[in-house]
Amino acid sequence: MKSFSLGRVIPLVEVSVTGSAERAFPVSELATTEMPLRDARMRPLRDLRISVTDRCNFRCVYCMPKEVFGRDYEFLPRGELLSFEEIERVARVFIGLGVEKIRLTGGEPLLRKDLECLVERLAAMRTPSGEDVELTLTTNGSLLSRKARSLWDAGLTRITVSLDAMNATVFQQMNGVNFPAALVLEGIDAALHVGLAPVKVNMVVKRGVNEAQILPMASHFRGTGVEVRFIEFMDVGTSNGWNMESVVSSSEVVRCIDAAFPLVPMGREKPSATSVRYRYADGQGEIGVISSVSQPFCGDCTRLRLSADGKLFTCLFASHGLDMRGPLRNGESDDALRRRVAALWTRRADRYSEQRGEDSAAHSRSKIEMSFIGG
Ligand code: SAM
Ligand code: SF4
Ligand code: SF4
Repeated sequence: MKSFSLGRVIPLVEVSVTGSAERAFPVSELATTEMPLRDARMRPLRDLRISVTDRCNFRCVYCMPKEVFGRDYEFLPRGELLSFEEIERVARVFIGLGVEKIRLTGGEPLLRKDLECLVERLAAMRTPSGEDVELTLTTNGSLLSRKARSLWDAGLTRITVSLDAMNATVFQQMNGVNFPAALVLEGIDAALHVGLAPVKVNMVVKRGVNEAQILPMASHFRGTGVEVRFIEFMDVGTSNGWNMESVVSSSEVVRCIDAAFPLVPMGREKPSATSVRYRYADGQGEIGVISSVSQPFCGDCTRLRLSADGKLFTCLFASHGLDMRGPLRNGESDDALRRRVAALWTRRADRYSEQRGEDSAAHSRSKIEMSFIGG
């Protein structure tokens, strides 16, 4: 377990931020701050999710429905994406502010050319106290059988693969492009074969589409060392046609699996973890459930997201991001970038998933798409 009490004090000067934290900062409020950086609700900054592309070769019904993300959909031009040098620089700034874990995501991160070069740069990074930064990646697995070895060689040690069904027809219906589940399973096997560990599998459960696949997924991965994490369908963005009736709650998932394979609750690995774990009573491994809709966990949310074009989002459900690309390209110093991020985080008060339950109109406001900032 890493220590959370570095106790380092960094001086901060006035910065103003735009987007979700659009008010200017009084210097007095930012005179000093302790490490790790804490937001307005005392949550430390620990996790950075970096989206390396907004493009994807899938059109999952819950994320990039093909009716919205059609042939004429305009993705970011290449020049607007952060370069690997820029991502590395931002990551370094974040690690200096307390980030211990980085997740590469997208869009589909394996579509980004030469991603291994970025993995190599990030895998070499250490926290100020000299510990490894936990580096992981979430992928739809479509290119994984080809890329597992090079990712491993570049220094990636763990991976999460999304797979929503074992059944070929149901999976093809979920991913919107008729991609076969068998090829994703090959990717998972390749990841296990090269030694990526742990390998986790994300399954989004949508009522009326794939809830009958909960048990086949659990049963396929039992005893393999792969942990399946069942995710409640979320109202991210504005294009996935979300409604509460489509959500299969985690308690329903647990009841379904427990009836076939008895489960023992284990809780969260650490307070900021998104998933609550259960182990099979017969020792055949673990599952996890991510209950952002039925049991929100905003109180312990330590995550910040960087979009492919360099905007920082303090919540998955934010409407605006803070631009980092402009300052980066205008030659701003690391110190100034650090103050910019600190100003954003110390004002952060997001708790969208809790508000969803309190205010039924919350989910209809404008929100950034999941494919733009990653999961
Ligand atoms: N393309 C990669 C993939 O699918 O793994 C990485 C990006 S994807 C946005 C990251 C994760 O978000 C995936 O596991 C995906 O299933 C999940 N996700 C996307 N839209 C979601 C939604 N509406 N509700 C819950 N999870 C969602
Ligand atoms: Fe692509 Fe991942 Fe979104 Fe599916 S969940 S459309 S694979 S970005
Ligand atoms: Fe964190 Fe926002 Fe999700 Fe709450 S809704 S857990 S604040 S990302």
